[in-house]
Amino acid sequence: MILANDSAYVIDCGNGVARQLAFAGVPLTIIRHLFITHQHSDHNADYGNLIWLAWATGLNTRVDTWGPPPLEKMTKLFFEMNAYDIDTRISNEGRVPIAPLVHAHEIRDNGAVMADDNVKVTAALVDHPPVVPAFGYRFDARDRSIVISGDTAPSDNVVKLARGADVLVHSVMYPPAIDRLVARVPNADALKESILAHQTSAEDAGRIAEAAGVKTLVLSHLVPADDPQVTERMWIEAAQSRFRGKVIVGRDLLEI
Ligand SMILES: [Zn+2]
Repeated sequence: MILANDSAYVIDCGNGVARQLAFAGVPLTIIRHLFITHQHSDHNADYGNLIWLAWATGLNTRVDTWGPPPLEKMTKLFFEMNAYDIDTRISNEGRVPIAPLVHAHEIRDNGAVMADDNVKVTAALVDHPPVVPAFGYRFDARDRSIVISGDTAPSDNVVKLARGADVLVHSVMYPPAIDRLVARVPNADALKESILAHQTSAEDAGRIAEAAGVKTLVLSHLVPADDPQVTERMWIEAAQSRFRGKVIVGRDLLEI
């Protein structure tokens, strides 16, 4: 989540995003824009829930949402699926109708997404087979530029998107630990192939950050995130082997 002048710009809505925002001390009523990088459950499972829960706790202002198709259909069907609660709260609690507040915009290509008084947002196609399109986003505010890679294999588009940015948040994997990760599931071969095809090693994330000339690299979406044999120091050293700037290992509720 990026906070600018008391407006929240939320990037991706995985499981529990409303709860995590509450833990971060962010009132759900200040959500102004939502961005979905790609249509995978760990990035969109709580897309509708976040808006719905925000509305049920007092959100009564416009929310624009941005992301790949079928974002418009997902938005419409979500409100349809939850019409009972929504209609009840409107008639019984005097809430404003939720559907007219929410404006979904589908993104299909590179380029400018939106701009307001706080930020200018640009999208770039990233490399996440077979999920197409998948995007990274750049946020240019008055005092800081922040780039979110989304899930991607090493991508020249991320280098271009992140050129000269203050902060690059890049998804990363630790390849030597992938075999241990997939050994726990029956679909190990397919899962391993999928991970290797659409994630970036911490070394490569460092190389991309160096090529883009960013100041700070934040390692995010760690694969695996829960392997005690892969320590914070190992993530940082892998990225720093290719990058001279500052490296931070992203954790829940971390504030930068
Ligand atoms: Zn994904």
